[in-house]
Amino acid sequence: MAYHWQSRNKKSSGVEDMVLLVKIQESSIVENLKKRYMDDYIFTYIGPVLISVNPFKQMPYFTDREVEIYQGAAAYENPPHIYALSDDMYRNMLIENESQCVIISGESGAGKTVAAKFIMGYIAKVSGGGQDVQRVKEVILESNPLLEAFGNAKTVRNNNSSRFGKYVEIQFTRGGEPRGGKINQFLLEKSRVVSQNEGERSFHIFYQLISGADDDMREGLGVANVDYYWYLNQTGTYTVDGIDDKKEFQDTLHAMEVMGIVGDRQGDVFNIVAGIMHLGNISFTEKGNYAVPEDDGFLQFPAYLLGVEPAALQEKLTGRIMDSKWGGKTESIRVQLNVEQACYTRDALSKTLYSRLFDWLVKMVNTAMKKDGLDINIGVLDIYGFEIFMKNGFEQFCINFVNEKLQQIFIELTLKAEQEEYVSEGIKWTPIDYFNNKIVCELVESKRPPGIMSILDDICFQMHGQSEGADIKLVEKLGGEPLPGKEYYVGFSGGFTIQHYAGKVTYDCNGFCEKNRDVLFKDCIELMQASQNQFIRSLFPDDISPDKKTRPTTAGSKIKTQANDLVGRLMKCTPHYIRCIKPNETKKPHDWEEDRVRHQVEYLGLKENIRVRRAGYAFRREFAKFLRRYALLTPETYPRWTGPVQDGIRHLMMSVNMEPDQWQLGKTKVFIKSPESLFLLEELRERKY
Ligand code: ADP
Ligand code: MG
Repeated sequence: MAYHWQSRNKKSSGVEDMVLLVKIQESSIVENLKKRYMDDYIFTYIGPVLISVNPFKQMPYFTDREVEIYQGAAAYENPPHIYALSDDMYRNMLIENESQCVIISGESGAGKTVAAKFIMGYIAKVSGGGQDVQRVKEVILESNPLLEAFGNAKTVRNNNSSRFGKYVEIQFTRGGEPRGGKINQFLLEKSRVVSQNEGERSFHIFYQLISGADDDMREGLGVANVDYYWYLNQTGTYTVDGIDDKKEFQDTLHAMEVMGIVGDRQGDVFNIVAGIMHLGNISFTEKGNYAVPEDDGFLQFPAYLLGVEPAALQEKLTGRIMDSKWGGKTESIRVQLNVEQACYTRDALSKTLYSRLFDWLVKMVNTAMKKDGLDINIGVLDIYGFEIFMKNGFEQFCINFVNEKLQQIFIELTLKAEQEEYVSEGIKWTPIDYFNNKIVCELVESKRPPGIMSILDDICFQMHGQSEGADIKLVEKLGGEPLPGKEYYVGFSGGFTIQHYAGKVTYDCNGFCEKNRDVLFKDCIELMQASQNQFIRSLFPDDISPDKKTRPTTAGSKIKTQANDLVGRLMKCTPHYIRCIKPNETKKPHDWEEDRVRHQVEYLGLKENIRVRRAGYAFRREFAKFLRRYALLTPETYPRWTGPVQDGIRHLMMSVNMEPDQWQLGKTKVFIKSPESLFLLEELRERKY
């Protein structure tokens, strides 16, 4: 038996699989997790679902030795571990020749991204392969520091918070060699580029560039002290505990090289990053009701970096071409903007530049690992969890909708998988009731009758870009519609409340329409399309011809499409789940905030999860493995049973007086009904030791 960090003879802490809890109630779950956490066991199962509690310190059990131990081992042979789940996915894929996916959920700072990296690291370690394979692995692993530099930021909840969601697919040959990959990116929080909350920062890359750029870069890009930039100095938070921006800049540069972003292309990227920082310093003042730059000098540098004339930049930031109908003819006239509108336009340009740059980076990663003709993969979904803040806006609405969809497939797939196994094994069972949140998804995304998103799109479309009063109109309209799932909706002046699976969330509709339309004014697109810089032009392939009649894509419809596409991908895979729990707000080890944990246990639906799992057969195990584990309970089966394996199991069950209704033999597995019955076997086994 392999040496392990936890000797199996030693009594472990609490129960390793909470299906075995004596009482299924939230307090027992919390207590069990706490006991284990305090003893430094961060992983616990509910059947095949892995629960992971953020330890906020390095645990000693992620070394090569553990990689070794978990390879090819059955889950019950070793303590719960993310490597066991990773190994299970990898073996399953090879044996069944079927794609696998893992859905990692949990709130911000719960450890999702760290978990995703452990999985990728494990698979990279165990999947061998020659030079081609090494290169793919390097690209996959290096995509993390690259996308984290541009997509992560310090927030109040997490010093390295992912401000985008991603689904990473690693594609394999039939022999299990990773040969390609693909990343899908969701919902980058681009508003962070122009403003942040108290105690938070913008995306890491800005601070990396400022502290890590060499002299040439500093001069070429006009890099000053960080507090010089309006987009970075509003919160006064510049450094982060445990993050060395200067060093990380080098890591980012290295990661860029791995993706093939080198030389001039690298220059182009930082040109935009610096361009955005400088754009933010253009401020406006009012002159005869209209905005003019407070100081023309501040136009020079961003204009230079973005490859446009300062005068053109000023014109586009302070005015807008509007089409107006005049005696049957459409004429274009230029309207001048006030200070607020000019700032808005400047910020819209910065946000768009940044998000298009980010999309381009993801595209580069995908190009670097693209490989056609591979049909099995392992997908890892790391997406921000359910969010409930004091004030919830359009962003939370989108994020929570995606989580609602994920919960939907969790319900469908776990129950479906459970049911299918009973059928294929020929086991009799009674199905149990569960809350299906499909109706809440409908409330948000239904086309007919229109759900919230459709109505939002209608309002945005009807208002022809007029934002004044649009949000109020939205709330009015929602109130009068026969929404699907109306019983999960309560409207009031200014917003609405949705009863999500994870709890009630009240949304403030202020800004919904503006954010949903997500337009960058034509003028700014024109400006970028006229840039001297070829790379910038390439980021703006938009067709802005006036006769384009199609309804523009809204942010809401985009996320709806992305979410459904994601669900489609996930449904093709054998699913695995990791539920991450954040034990405290202090980010300190061994600190346990009971109420916080209880709340997460509630909305992650762990109790339901155990209940469903136990309603049928709590435990199942392949014949041979089962017999091997309990062989020593009878002299006839130990050390070896010589007859057919099913007979051996029957003999064993009779000898320990197992109630006949407590177990069934399927076609390949033994099914055991209640956890107590399994306890019995386990206890007998311990006594024999
Ligand atoms: P999320 O992606 O869920 O927002 P992260 O994965 O970024 O959260 O984790 C937040 C922080 O918590 C990490 O930066 C790290 O410091 C700590 N952390 C999370 N998981 C672990 C772990 N397994 N071991 C040690 N520290 C962890
Ligand atoms: Mg994260």
